[in-house]
Amino acid sequence: MNYPISQMVLLSALALLFFSACEDDDGTTTPDPDEVTIDVDPDLFLIASLSQPVTTVACTLSDGTSTTCYQIVAGSSPSDHQMGPWCPDNISDGADKGGIWLEGGEVYDVDGAFIENMATFYNDDTWQMYDANGDIFTTDTQEDCANAANPNVGVEYRNFCVECLPSYITEITQTYLIPTTPVKLSSSTQFGGGPMGGVSVRGLAFNGIRFDAPAPVNAILGAYTLAPFDDAGGHINLNAGYHYHAATGNTTEITQADGHAPMIGYALDGHGLYGQLDSSGAEPTDLDACRGHYDDTRGYHYHVDAAGTNNFINCLSGAYVN
Ligand SMILES: [Zn+2]
Ligand SMILES: [Zn+2]
Repeated sequence: MNYPISQMVLLSALALLFFSACEDDDGTTTPDPDEVTIDVDPDLFLIASLSQPVTTVACTLSDGTSTTCYQIVAGSSPSDHQMGPWCPDNISDGADKGGIWLEGGEVYDVDGAFIENMATFYNDDTWQMYDANGDIFTTDTQEDCANAANPNVGVEYRNFCVECLPSYITEITQTYLIPTTPVKLSSSTQFGGGPMGGVSVRGLAFNGIRFDAPAPVNAILGAYTLAPFDDAGGHINLNAGYHYHAATGNTTEITQADGHAPMIGYALDGHGLYGQLDSSGAEPTDLDACRGHYDDTRGYHYHVDAAGTNNFINCLSGAYVN
């Protein structure tokens, strides 16, 4: 069969498009040599939030690459926003007295009315987190915070709003290594299993505070406790310190001149982390399974998931330090 020249050209162009596409049959991606790689900029981290300046150290990445990494030692409190509040005191309290809860992809204010309405919200009359005066049962000591956060939380903490305070973690620092130049790999690394089984951090905000693995909300609710996040999407764990489960726009953002979503930090593999939505409120439509994509300005980078999803990114496309 003879094709007219114009169709031949079209077919060749289509073939070229097909073969230069970066998604392989098995779902892995092949790094394109023409793609720009953007180095991590250590000056973007907020020195006032860190417990010491960012330093450069030798490191070995998950793919065996020997390279350099930035060592970021985060303190226990962010310098760009306040922590808390988490639990309101009384069911008459407004949203300014409590934090947020994430359910079914939505962000809910944990105000007094939310606490009052929990039995209806979860369709379970066991929920009764306040007394006859409307005062809400809230953990109020470090010991209560530790006990209520235990996976085998006892029934004595049923119907408690769990609130661990900044004063419990003033000595905590967290040290992270991020490759100075990201190395994109041919296949992504899933969180939660295999080599990343022990890694819960997804990335860092510019204040050094971690964007963490999804909060175990089913275990929390299963114990009839509520462990709200503050309006910045963070709460405190006595071991991990203050950490985020949602990107709510309260941390330092770097606006992008072209209307792209703002930069909010770095993923653990050194690729940039950006907000979910661009300046017109749209999410990119070409995100890969990890929630990443490429452009010539930002290189390969991720867009975090909606705040209500209790999730940031789904996997890492680049090498990381375990
Ligand atoms: Zn948490
Ligand atoms: Zn983007």
